[in-house]
Amino acid sequence: MTTSPEASSADHTAAATSTSGRPRVVIVGSGFGGLFAAKALKRAPVDVTVVAKTSHHLFQPLLYQVATGILSEGEIAPATREILRGQRNARVVLGEVTGIDLAARTVTSTVLGRTTVHPYDELIVAAGAGQSYFGNDHFAEFAPGMKSIDDALELRGRIFGAFELAEIATSQREIDRLMTFVVVGAGPTGVEMAGQIAELARRTLRKDFRNIDTSQARIVLLDAAPQVLPSFGEKLGDRARRQLNGMGVEVQLGAMVTDVDADGLEVKDPDGVIRRIPAATKIWAAGVQASELGRVLGEQSGAEVDRAGRIAVLPDLTLPGHPEVHVVGDMMALDKLPGVAQVAIQGGRYAAKSIVGRLSGKPAQPPFRYFDKGSMATISRFSAVADIGRFKFEGFIAWVLWLVVHLMYIVGFKSRITTVFHWLISFLGRGRSQRVATQQQVYGRLALEQLGPDFSVAKTGGSKKPAAAGPDDATARRSA
Ligand SMILES: Cc1cc2nc3c(=O)[nH]c(=O)nc-3n(C[C@H](O)[C@H](O)[C@H](O)COP(=O)(O)OP(=O)(O)OC[C@H]3O[C@@H](n4cnc5c(N)ncnc54)[C@H](O)[C@@H]3O)c2cc1C
Repeated sequence: MTTSPEASSADHTAAATSTSGRPRVVIVGSGFGGLFAAKALKRAPVDVTVVAKTSHHLFQPLLYQVATGILSEGEIAPATREILRGQRNARVVLGEVTGIDLAARTVTSTVLGRTTVHPYDELIVAAGAGQSYFGNDHFAEFAPGMKSIDDALELRGRIFGAFELAEIATSQREIDRLMTFVVVGAGPTGVEMAGQIAELARRTLRKDFRNIDTSQARIVLLDAAPQVLPSFGEKLGDRARRQLNGMGVEVQLGAMVTDVDADGLEVKDPDGVIRRIPAATKIWAAGVQASELGRVLGEQSGAEVDRAGRIAVLPDLTLPGHPEVHVVGDMMALDKLPGVAQVAIQGGRYAAKSIVGRLSGKPAQPPFRYFDKGSMATISRFSAVADIGRFKFEGFIAWVLWLVVHLMYIVGFKSRITTVFHWLISFLGRGRSQRVATQQQVYGRLALEQLGPDFSVAKTGGSKKPAAAGPDDATARRSA
């Protein structure tokens, strides 16, 4: 590894072996794909370097519980360094990967202007996916997505903040706008989010305010598709829709968002009529775009990159002409596999096994086969839907299954214990123990944008696209 405050071409020197003499495996990303690949290499005679732009492993399926005050961020995002503490052959490096050179076999990462070059013998790329606004990136300003801890904390601030502002609003129109929450995207994340906001408004916050009746909050879940939870099939989707309706969530299907601004959003119905929903809080849960690194790898290897930015991999999850480069998880396109945690976990483990086999001269493994363990989504406390092979569950049984599975995959004993504790508080009682939202959480992203693109590039080494900073005050522009 070479580190320098400024990258130079002299840094890009790949040696065949590391100082320990063992093959070097570089893993990009500490999400499900990256972390499980690293762990699967625990006993392998290799040196593993995990490079990721966050210092934690994020359990994305529970982000909505951080956004709605049930869990703390630490419970779903343990430090990667701590998880791999006992794995002697693994090291963790913080940095955003800005370049991969397949010919030189190097990965370049940057953090706060410090560039590090990591030579590799084997590479696993598991950089995941971000939110997609389907070409309308300006929506992001008013309708944050839910992909990171920053997103969840910002949303927490916006959701709880909207009730606070409604309490002191002076006109009914303003109260209505502040107490309208629109979730765009009726997949599992959107359904879970809408269900939780409904519980928050109708149950948790009911006795906390004096001037407003939080149970009158309007919660809208909308999607351009004709069904809720399309991947779960018609029966479960319909069941989820009816249950959401029963909780007072308006489900609007076939509704396409055409514009979003600070005060609300415009929606086009199937009959072509465009209408407006005044709403202070908008949440985007409608689409993903794979990491930019997919395009970087596609350009160099000739592998196809689809519209969602996913790179087509060979059946053994490698790139054409590069058996040493493995791409797993949300970034890869193979047999229309879904972007779910199990695809990433199983892909990461498969890539690790391929590497061990290749290095010890064993014949190649059979092609990657995904074992579908099923899908689940919660709707409210005590109610969920689960689609497991030939079996479809709903209601309390599905919810218990959901509880057990999620608990199993939360990383770390400590986090499991405190998660159970917080679930007891929220599901058996009325409380939400994580309601804190600081101004920095709500406005931090906006303030950083105002510092301009040069600042964000220096800090993260990330996108060089100019950020959309306006001349006026960020807090006034975009707050609830
Ligand atoms: C809100 C939400 C809810 C979900 N719910 C479920 C669910 O209930 N069940 C389910 O199975 N799946 C769910 N998913 C999907 C699941 O989380 C993903 O499929 C899974 O995380 C993909 O794993 P991955 O390793 O490919 O990417 P990720 O887990 O996203 O990890 C990507 C890693 O790469 C790092 N990274 C990204 N770019 C760079 C870069 N340039 N340089 C360095 N590091 C980089 C990131 O910091 C991160 O560590 C959900 C996703 C979201 C967002």
